[in-house]
Amino acid sequence: MTTLDNAYGMRCPNCRRSNEIDIAATVWVRLCRDGTDASAAENGDHEWNNDSLAVCHSCDQSGTIREFDAASQPCTNANDDRAERARTALRQYVEARGEVFEDSSSEITDLIADLLHLTARIDQGDDPVESTLRLARLHFDAEHENPEETGRADAASGFIPWQLSSDHETYGDNVGKWIITSADGEQEIGHAVYSTREACGNAIALLKAGQAVIDDWENGDLAAAVRDLDAAVKGARSQR
Ligand SMILES: [Zn+2]
Repeated sequence: MTTLDNAYGMRCPNCRRSNEIDIAATVWVRLCRDGTDASAAENGDHEWNNDSLAVCHSCDQSGTIREFDAASQPCTNANDDRAERARTALRQYVEARGEVFEDSSSEITDLIADLLHLTARIDQGDDPVESTLRLARLHFDAEHENPEETGRADAASGFIPWQLSSDHETYGDNVGKWIITSADGEQEIGHAVYSTREACGNAIALLKAGQAVIDDWENGDLAAAVRDLDAAVKGARSQR
């Protein structure tokens, strides 16, 4: 799961950071002799809607609230989420040292070095530092530029899971649920709504596997396609 730095489910659609987003809200201000005072106004609400403007000051991307709604951004890239999670930890680490966060690789080096000191204390195995570094490297190599992790595998098949935004007016009871769309997100495939990303992913796997059987039928070699279909059916049946 992604952790966001704001309570409104907003994430920059460009850099995917969520800690420097400004939005143009309507506020009431009390007119005073020397100007205006927002805190003195009778109505202290900050109001905005899906068409209000938002700006990310990490990368200067601007757009509407709808475009900044994390739930409506398609093709979740698990590696982006991992990097943002690490950035959150890195910022807290730098600030715990009483320093100003600079988002630099030298800060990462310091954090890794300190983590290795921690490893030497909490891991009782043989050569814990070496095995921690080796395993971390294995994880990274398996995930980095892996299409299954970056959301590109679904897109290549022509189908992607798409999460409906938290716009109640448009989606009613289906807010936050999942549908299947074409890879560009433009066309809804079927009319089913799935309550979780996993359920939606299983349905996409079934679609892909079924299509592969149809495609391979003409070549007369169905064995591999049927094995994949079998796995997809098992996956869908075992879904929690
Ligand atoms: Zn941004």
